[in-house]
Amino acid sequence: MSPPLRDEAPAFVADVMLGRLTRWLRILGFDVLYFHRAPDDFLIYVVLESGRTLITRDRALAQESLLAGRILLIDETHLPHQLRAFMERYPMGGGPRCAECNGLLMEVTRKEVEDLVPLYVYLTSPKFWRCPSCGKVLWEGTHKRNMLKYLGFDPWRGCEGRSE
Ligand SMILES: [Zn+2]
Repeated sequence: MSPPLRDEAPAFVADVMLGRLTRWLRILGFDVLYFHRAPDDFLIYVVLESGRTLITRDRALAQESLLAGRILLIDETHLPHQLRAFMERYPMGGGPRCAECNGLLMEVTRKEVEDLVPLYVYLTSPKFWRCPSCGKVLWEGTHKRNMLKYLGFDPWRGCEGRSE
């Protein structure tokens, strides 16, 4: 029998075929581990040790009985469809995470990133974040609009005003 989902935000590990999806899910606030080289045995071990849910495109792996209740099989090949399938199951993530390393981003002031971002960005972006793990600085800008256009749906809908 699979343990019930914990109260805190669900956490995941993605298989090697889902690198792009992983980056998007992190930006959307999902805690997703990703390994560039990860044999099935290793992924199974991570799921069992960490209690995470495995996101996979591998039908055979999805049948693994050790992982019962801890699998999300993604059949779609097109990224926007993959994201939609994921978010039908898990509609809401936590705070935004670093696409590179999965670190939980911290909102920082404009002043704090003055020397770290291009002048135009410094002057025009309303919000900035920094990754405490790898130091990467992110800002809110036109990329969000581009993402919405690319996806064809708004994954942030309903996220405003949520409690973190
Ligand atoms: Zn990072």
